[in-house]
Amino acid sequence: MDLVVWLKDIGKEDLSLAGGKGASLGEMLRANLPVPDGFVVTAQAYMFFLEKRGIKQKILEILKKTNVDNTAELKRASDEIRKIIINEKVPEEIEILITEFYNKLSEKYNKDEEFVAVRSSATAEDLPTASFAGQQETYLNVKGAKNVVESVKKCWASLFTPRAIFYREKKGFDHMKVAIAVIVQKMINAEKAGVMFTQHPTTGEQDKIVIEAAFGLGEGVVAGKVTPDMYVVDKNTFEIVEKSISTKEIMIVRENSRTVEKEVPENLKNKQVLSEEEIRRLAKYGKDIEDYYKFPQDIEWAIENGNIFILQSRPITVRYKEEKKEEKEEEMEILLKGIGASPGIGSGKVKIILSIEEIDKVKKGDILVTKMTNPDMVPAMKKASAIVTDEGGVTSHAAIVSRELGIPCVVGTKEATKKLKDGLEVTVDGTRGIVYKGIKVKKLEEKAEEVKVAVAPKIITATEIKVNLSIPEGAERVAHLADGVGLLRAEHLILGIGKHPIKFIKEGKEKELIDNIANGVRKVAQAFYPKPVWYRTLDAPTNEFRTLEGGEDEPEERNPMLGWRGIRRGLDQVELLKAEFKAIKKLVDEGYKNIGIMLPLVQHPEEVRRAKEIAREVGLMPHKDVKFGIMVEVPASAIIIEDFIKEGIDFVSFGTNDLTQFTLAIDRDNEMIAKLYNEKHKAVLKLIEYVIKKCREAGVETSICGQAGSDPEMARILVRLGITSISVNPDAIEYVREVVAREERRIMLEKATKD
Ligand code: PEP
Ligand code: MG
Repeated sequence: MDLVVWLKDIGKEDLSLAGGKGASLGEMLRANLPVPDGFVVTAQAYMFFLEKRGIKQKILEILKKTNVDNTAELKRASDEIRKIIINEKVPEEIEILITEFYNKLSEKYNKDEEFVAVRSSATAEDLPTASFAGQQETYLNVKGAKNVVESVKKCWASLFTPRAIFYREKKGFDHMKVAIAVIVQKMINAEKAGVMFTQHPTTGEQDKIVIEAAFGLGEGVVAGKVTPDMYVVDKNTFEIVEKSISTKEIMIVRENSRTVEKEVPENLKNKQVLSEEEIRRLAKYGKDIEDYYKFPQDIEWAIENGNIFILQSRPITVRYKEEKKEEKEEEMEILLKGIGASPGIGSGKVKIILSIEEIDKVKKGDILVTKMTNPDMVPAMKKASAIVTDEGGVTSHAAIVSRELGIPCVVGTKEATKKLKDGLEVTVDGTRGIVYKGIKVKKLEEKAEEVKVAVAPKIITATEIKVNLSIPEGAERVAHLADGVGLLRAEHLILGIGKHPIKFIKEGKEKELIDNIANGVRKVAQAFYPKPVWYRTLDAPTNEFRTLEGGEDEPEERNPMLGWRGIRRGLDQVELLKAEFKAIKKLVDEGYKNIGIMLPLVQHPEEVRRAKEIAREVGLMPHKDVKFGIMVEVPASAIIIEDFIKEGIDFVSFGTNDLTQFTLAIDRDNEMIAKLYNEKHKAVLKLIEYVIKKCREAGVETSICGQAGSDPEMARILVRLGITSISVNPDAIEYVREVVAREERRIMLEKATKD
């Protein structure tokens, strides 16, 4: 049995023994690449430990009697199992081997006890979502054989966090078939480190290698805390074709057994991190690795005492892209034009829905045509291959939901429900806002040639790029692309239940309401964990409540947009706000440390104070893991932002849809004055600039979640103003990220060439 194995003796065939990370490191050592030396405590060792200590059955019994949907029970089971693992002694056979291997490793570096990194490596039959497999477990700067053994045990125990158990149960995985390997590797105390892409990450050029480098440990670059230098190298000649030297303010270094953030010494701040020779040497390694794997790679590297080390290499993710040979427009009869609200092409038979009773008409692949969608229509929308509406703009219900579901959509056609007929075959171009007669997309697909293109890996930007979500089901699709959720709208979630939330409370069914909210938010928080998700409390105007069961008593308002909505309603109908807070509290208790609360439409600090009191009453505050923030949507709150900061907020987010509406006195839904609606109006920008300035001075995070954040020009302006994050539509994440990356580099370049 292979309980402990040197990394150099491992290869890609050992996936089930050493896990993905271990197998890849072993392969690189085989290829004579400078990977830090180390060994793997194999998946077999973990299994041997369970067998030898006879705890398998004990663990299974605990799991058998646990209802994983009951969070308290789940947590208890997890604690109990992890305690069992931690309290058991590692079998002597394994302990002796780990000690032997560790001592040999230390000897190699002429040390009695060398610092090592201990990290888990999920095995092939392991779970697809790494964080659930406990794959993220890493212990840095470990010293001494005993501590290594203890860290290995902690990696094993991480297979039984509440989240990991819950996930395996729900996916029907056998708890005892999931094993984990642990990698022990010499720590590299880097003086310089960074990442390297063997294909240009933004332009996709195959003959370029791009290196990002900073002083100190690589964590700074990987986590985006440091703005690195960037060098572009020609892959054939190894000539350096482009250099951008940044100002490096901070670096991450090791001090004894801790990693700390430090200011970069003054003489190094503007210094080129890598010498020309180092750049070329590194690029050659990059080419070797790519040649070895025969695929473009994303590589983490470090330099210690002038020696280059390769820490990790992953293929740049690929996807298939259809190369659509555009048919000439005149060959295709245009039936309707509107606003392209969600990109892509869809075709099928028209199904016109004039009332909610008709939604069953929509079958998979149909084109849903209606005046304007509403939350009750979401199940039918999910089945449609495209959506077309008479009314609405880019922030309408149809637009938001279809973008999140990834379904092409054209809104604002004015006459789709009149002009189109049931059963008519059409093709919808959601990018350009056109509806064509006939199934043209099929023809295009037949001709289409599938080409494999390497997709740019996620570029790291200092400004975080987040996403706006309303439909929890949309979260999985984009969780790997965005740095968090800058706006999780509650409206679709709560109105989508189909019953007025007040009705639940009146009928004594508050718990049902809370569970409904928690179930929706959990999907998002889980998909994004540990990235932040800002849940915005309910902000539906009275006219949107009226159509719900139990909504008959909604007051008639002359101007619902200026009326009883957002936090002002929450503070009047405290039981509603309480139910929302209780739902979030439930998730926090389940271990979700990534949820923030955002209050909509605030105009006075008193509203924040009262909302916080209510949060305190339900036990949601104060809490170190729950951030509390406000939307800046009303000019008043921008003008007196300092009073809000004094009241105590962690972040603000610009709701430019409302902020523009209220600053310019332009109803955002009134087509007659749409031409005057301008989010980049000088007055709106002035308010934004002022708020960012004051928040930066006070250390309060700033973000934008209005539609304007998805506009590249606005994104560029906001980056220059120093906004912390930009939250955009799901379809705009990658594009806005590129725009932001370019602008950040431009700013650095301007600074560098100023004097
Ligand atoms: C906004 O006002 O910009 C915003 C994001 O909120 P909503 O569009 O939901 O009013
Ligand atoms: Mg708003």
